[in-house]
Amino acid sequence: ADEAGGDELRSVGDYFSGEGFQRWRRIYDDEAEDVNKVQKDIREGHAKTIDIALEWFGQDLDGVTVCDAGCGTGSLTIPLALRGAQVSASDISAPMAEEAGRRYEAAAQGRQGCVQPNFEAKDLERLSGSYDTVACLDVMIHYPDSKMEGMVGHLASMAQNRMIISFAPKTPYYSFLKRVGELFPGKSKATRAYLHAEEDVERALVSEGFRVVKRDMTATNFYFSRILEAVRV
Ligand code: SAM
Repeated sequence: ADEAGGDELRSVGDYFSGEGFQRWRRIYDDEAEDVNKVQKDIREGHAKTIDIALEWFGQDLDGVTVCDAGCGTGSLTIPLALRGAQVSASDISAPMAEEAGRRYEAAAQGRQGCVQPNFEAKDLERLSGSYDTVACLDVMIHYPDSKMEGMVGHLASMAQNRMIISFAPKTPYYSFLKRVGELFPGKSKATRAYLHAEEDVERALVSEGFRVVKRDMTATNFYFSRILEAVRV
């Protein structure tokens, strides 16, 4: 009954405001040296996902509005804002959104052509508005299938043109790895991880009037993420 209903949603939020914040802010910081091998591998994998998304966005983003749902420490938001996009960045965790704000200030210092993003602590289900592009990277791993389709549909309904989403794909191989991982739990398995079948994500996009036009995949030893770009048809 706790499948990302009230309890699990609260626990994801709590985790990313406390222990998870401390863990992930280091993983998502190239300069932080106190990370172990696994965390370093995840950092590198995640950076590849961000690079793919940035390449799809392109360089000229003047006036383009973007919603970055579950922005974390701003890994996507910041480079987009430096390229001139007007980004609404939100995260269920207030410390994450604040950290993203600090990192933006540091990155934008002395640079021309950046647009100050709007940072907000908000659950993506409570987001509203209309944006050229809605991005949601590596967030769906926290939600079971029963919840994922509704969340993707809601995000897609806010996108005028395009949706960029990444998730851990459910394939026999990754399901196996995940099971093995569960047999030998690491120090802290603070949140559950959910894999999603690509066709389930695609179905949620299609039902909101989108068509998938680009697909890519990043896989390192401990990080795997499928990324899709979908446009309104
Ligand atoms: N998208 C960022 C990136 O790729 O750098 C962060 C990815 S991180 C693995 C997952 C993020 O999703 C965390 O910052 C977490 O707080 C956030 N998150 C989880 N559930 C959320 C929800 N329901 N609404 C908004 N943010 C959420």
